[in-house]
Amino acid sequence: MSKSESGAAKKCVSCGIQVAGMTAATFACPDCGTTIHRCSKCRKQSNLYECPDCSFRGP
Ligand SMILES: [Zn+2]
Ligand SMILES: [Zn+2]
Repeated sequence: MSKSESGAAKKCVSCGIQVAGMTAATFACPDCGTTIHRCSKCRKQSNLYECPDCSFRGP
């Protein structure tokens, strides 16, 4: 009843594309622990990420 994981939109925090089904890095925000997704492209380019929850920015 409360399983809605498949419906959740996983988006790259850097470029905003859907990362579902592709190789993406998933990690927790070092500041607030929110789960952050980043696509392989942005990871390769070392784009900055910004936490959607606390606006923490990191490399
Ligand atoms: Zn991206
Ligand atoms: Zn955060």
